[in-house]
Amino acid sequence: MAQTPIKPTNAATNAATNTTGPSASGVNNALLYAVAWKKTAAEYRALYYQGFNIARIHVQNALDKHKAGDKPLAIVTDMDDTIVNLLDYWSLLINQNKDYFDDAEWDKLIPENKITASPGSTEFLKFCADNKVEVFYVTSRDQGEKTYEYALGHLKHLGFPYADTSHLTVLQDTSNKEKRQDEIMKSFNVVVFLGDNLNDFRRKYYIKNNIDARIKAMEADRDQYGVNYILFPNPTDGHWLAAIYGESEPLPTNANRELMKKAASKPY
Ligand SMILES: [Mg+2]
Repeated sequence: MAQTPIKPTNAATNAATNTTGPSASGVNNALLYAVAWKKTAAEYRALYYQGFNIARIHVQNALDKHKAGDKPLAIVTDMDDTIVNLLDYWSLLINQNKDYFDDAEWDKLIPENKITASPGSTEFLKFCADNKVEVFYVTSRDQGEKTYEYALGHLKHLGFPYADTSHLTVLQDTSNKEKRQDEIMKSFNVVVFLGDNLNDFRRKYYIKNNIDARIKAMEADRDQYGVNYILFPNPTDGHWLAAIYGESEPLPTNANRELMKKAASKPY
């Protein structure tokens, strides 16, 4: 999966524990709303354009202010659900009557280059490259020994700029991106960070089993959003699930389905 290297395989567990999951027809699959929104809502796509338009304004402002002798400009971006989308994965889960992330299915699709550029990402990244604003890709992925090759292949497949080993970092053993982000910031003035997960900005947001604490950590930085941090929507996966379940890729168990219901009925 994109977000964490935790790899419990839940394919086998699905059958054994799927007593309150999707019915045979699948019309009660808990993923349906989120996946239908990702696949069909114009609003979902518009939020990408909005994010990249805002990012572009900040990059242009930084270019206008940039003087000789200043650190060179750069942007740092996550990959999955930020600049690349693999939306057919979610329909595949629905068609297999699964209501939780399935790592094995995800890993099967990664080598097939079934990704698409998220709306507006190609144009934004080209704008950066045309203005010599370097693009650094920092992603957490784990598909075994070919993980890096697949990730670099995705960047090249989509024609993204700076698709090379000095600009792509793939973290296989951790989802903590901060060390690499700090290294980049030593040499570059990073104009914006782009991601679909607060962890794409700073590690302090990685808070498990505590929904309120995670929200509070974000609220403390509310002025950063749309300024240094450009956030894209993701209602199907990410560390927001770890605040509910304690992990980002929970197993499809009845207990976990109860936890989701509890989260959905939590007073706002
Ligand atoms: Mg992501």
